[in-house]
Amino acid sequence: MNPDRLPQALGDLLRSGYVPVPVRAELRRNLVGKLKSGEPLFPGIVGYAETVVPEVVRAILAGQDMIILGERGQAKSRLLRGLCSLLDPYVPVMPGCDINDDPCAPACQACRARLAEEGDATPIKWLTPEDRYGEKLATPDVTMADLIGDIDPVKVAEGRYLSDASTINYGIIPRTNRGVFCINELPDLSERIQVGLFNLMEERDIQVRGHRVRLILDVVVVATANPEDYTNRGRIITPLKDRYGAQIRTHYPRTTDDELRIVEQERVRFPEDHLKVVVPDYMSDIAAELSALARKSPEINQRSGVSVRFTIANYETLYAAALARGLQNREQAASPRITDLPALLASSRGKIELESVEEGSEAKVIEDLAKKAVAAVYARRMRGAPLEELLSAFEGGLTVRTGATLPSSDYVKMLKTIQPLQPAVHHLSPGQTPAELASAVEFVLEGLHLARRLNRQRDGGSWTYGWGEAREPQANPLRPPRRATLDQPPSGQG
Ligand SMILES: [Zn+2]
Repeated sequence: MNPDRLPQALGDLLRSGYVPVPVRAELRRNLVGKLKSGEPLFPGIVGYAETVVPEVVRAILAGQDMIILGERGQAKSRLLRGLCSLLDPYVPVMPGCDINDDPCAPACQACRARLAEEGDATPIKWLTPEDRYGEKLATPDVTMADLIGDIDPVKVAEGRYLSDASTINYGIIPRTNRGVFCINELPDLSERIQVGLFNLMEERDIQVRGHRVRLILDVVVVATANPEDYTNRGRIITPLKDRYGAQIRTHYPRTTDDELRIVEQERVRFPEDHLKVVVPDYMSDIAAELSALARKSPEINQRSGVSVRFTIANYETLYAAALARGLQNREQAASPRITDLPALLASSRGKIELESVEEGSEAKVIEDLAKKAVAAVYARRMRGAPLEELLSAFEGGLTVRTGATLPSSDYVKMLKTIQPLQPAVHHLSPGQTPAELASAVEFVLEGLHLARRLNRQRDGGSWTYGWGEAREPQANPLRPPRRATLDQPPSGQG
């Protein structure tokens, strides 16, 4: 629809055959249309096609109010924002009206007076779906005035009655009239505000400073909540809970692929990167695996959860670490490496809540998880890799030093001079840039270390791999590391 061709005055609007439709019916009608045509629903929502989306579809078809329950970073509000895609491209409103009155059925006195005066010549304004979506993060200090409105003392002083809606300064929900309003973290609203909200949704009137004011609004009020907060006795008033016909439970990505598709979609990009950054698939797998392990870790508070933003931030950090090194070493291409993993501390911290509050334990938890993530990805990727020659070379006294600041060319030389490294690196089928080869070398070495087949010494930014006696504490120094196999779980040494 071309917005220039839309009627600009009431008379034209009436002649166009326009009929007002309540928002709930509009959502439903457009959903039915999309279901019939097979158009994709909720574009940009990854991993919910078979779980969450069908529940949202049923709730809309059933005309039910929805509350989305899920831990942090499960795209709850994004999903609800996706309801915009089910709104009409344009709806007519009275210009200058705080509550987006329909020109054919205005609720407020001012609009009715204007229509009576200007008739068919009354100008029309058009709203897009984005104009019709509002959201608010609930906190205990959100007031009735913020959400619903307050009596305007000036208007009262002018002699208007308190029961007259024109004495109200509207809050954010009435201003989203004829649209969709989302309250994030609903249980954080105070009980009094929940009562006000319920009255607005159910009885279509509100109590403002003890006065009952009738407000005929047409707003679909949806909400999100952490499941534990929502089910906690007393956090939500019963009538409001009853009002939500559909409780829809979200979840974290069920596969690494889904997690990484979200990362690709959401990560920050800049128009100019100055050089080519390639993130090898095993490195992005490590970022995804780290989150998957964190979501199972007993040391991390699972009621609060581990957001997909944790993965996104970690991926961005690995990318940035590679970029910084590439720029500093004046290289043409850059790739993240194992020695960049300590950089994840900065992006991981604060995005997880620990069960214990011991000082400094956060760094240890993250470091341990990162090791387990590398070991898990290594076990998957290097199954059946030709490693015997390389291990023999180490047994014969080979040592290899790696580090986050070393130029990629050092690793290319390493690959040329240490022949047995080649088959192991090629097993990963890395790209041909020096940066990708450097990354592959580090992954092979660290994987062997975590599989207890090589020792490693870390000295500042320098990581040295070798066969020799462990310079770091080892679980059982009497047992030669060679006997351990790849399929054993990592010991977490080092
Ligand atoms: Zn109005």
